[in-house]
Amino acid sequence: GVVLGTPIREGHANYLLMYDMLTGIRVSVSRCHAKPSRVLDEADFKAAHKLAFDVTGNELLPKATYDFKFKDYAPWVFRQIREQFQVDASEYLLSLTGKYILSELGSPGKSGSFFYFSQDYRFIIKTISKAEHKFFRKILKGYYEHIRANPETLISRIFGLHRVKLPGGQKIRFVVMGNLFPANKDIHETYDLKGSTVGRRVKPEHIKPHSTLKDLNFLESNRHLSIGTTKKDIFLDQLERDVLAQFLQISNVMDYSLLVGVHNLLIGNRENIRDNNLIAFEPSPETLVRRQPSTTRMNSSGGRGRSRSTSRHRRAQSDGVGIEPSRAVLPDDMPPEKSNFYFYQEMGGMVSTDESGAEGDEVYYLGIIDIFTEYNMTKKAEHFFKSLMGSSRTISAVNSVAYGKRFVSFLERCL
Ligand code: ATP
Ligand code: CA
Ligand code: CA
Repeated sequence: GVVLGTPIREGHANYLLMYDMLTGIRVSVSRCHAKPSRVLDEADFKAAHKLAFDVTGNELLPKATYDFKFKDYAPWVFRQIREQFQVDASEYLLSLTGKYILSELGSPGKSGSFFYFSQDYRFIIKTISKAEHKFFRKILKGYYEHIRANPETLISRIFGLHRVKLPGGQKIRFVVMGNLFPANKDIHETYDLKGSTVGRRVKPEHIKPHSTLKDLNFLESNRHLSIGTTKKDIFLDQLERDVLAQFLQISNVMDYSLLVGVHNLLIGNRENIRDNNLIAFEPSPETLVRRQPSTTRMNSSGGRGRSRSTSRHRRAQSDGVGIEPSRAVLPDDMPPEKSNFYFYQEMGGMVSTDESGAEGDEVYYLGIIDIFTEYNMTKKAEHFFKSLMGSSRTISAVNSVAYGKRFVSFLERCL
């Protein structure tokens, strides 16, 4: 069984999109790294570089006819972020574009974002909406400054922000982020915790293996994340800085959650994604030239945009006719963005520990995800409160403060 996604092959609805995303990343990241490092200035946070590509992925001169366009946002800022987390540029490019293969996560969330794993599972591409993209650009400087001041932050590490414009004119915005979960360990339980109880239960009849459970499931199962007193103090201290004192709350971010993965050492690895999930192939240049723009069906506004013909497409390509598969190789050693950072240094996460300091048999993978939603009231409510209280800004601040407080106090109870 496929555990973490479906490899995107030729004929897949999003094959061409993947090709465009990876080509854009390859060219823009190498271009930035060809220059000597320098100090950032104000303009770097607002920067957006346009690139135009022909069918074979060659970069064109300005004004030449093009096949797809790519926009690279704040390249110098993301270069610094990658360096801060010790992600080597050539490894980054090799992981994402070395084989030109990504695997698509089975079922996108209700937001409609699509998720793609790099070939070695080290990085995740998430498509984001126009509003999320705009908001992230707005808070980018604050994000950057926060992670500079907090190298051990629990907030998702974002390594790139880009946009692909397809030949039909459709724009797909996306980020590249670090995968919180390790490539070489099965995750036996997953929770997405927001600190809310409203609608935060996956109904028992809907729970399948690998379901991401929510706050009420966590509480009702009596689960705890036992990390011992030392790790707990350091974790709660960082959580406070990330959420309350320094970043998420004051940036007016809402709706984020703590993603929790649990690996049980007694169960170990049975699913072995290495063998089951990742079948790599290298597209020939000819397959890439024979691209049919109309087959790219990607709706930036939602997974519901997937048409019937797309699912037919999927079934048809799943038997892999005409493709010569070869095994992908996943690394056993831990990447530096894990091994050199406190919350990710024990098998990629934190080993469970009791009050006496003795280690248990679970490994926890924890991080704050989904940080691109700005607190925004509905127009109607906004007008209502505006007239009532004078300013919508105050209301927003109050609400992201309330969200943050609830989030932190819930997590305190989970540890
Ligand atoms: P919604 O807005 O409906 O909550 P979304 O589309 O914005 O969903 P996220 O909440 O960002 O999606 O993530 C959905 C799922 O993707 C998570 O529950 C988790 O399983 C996976 N995921 C997201 N970010 C990461 C990450 N950095 N590392 C590992 N898995 C991740
Ligand atoms: Ca979410
Ligand atoms: Ca979201």
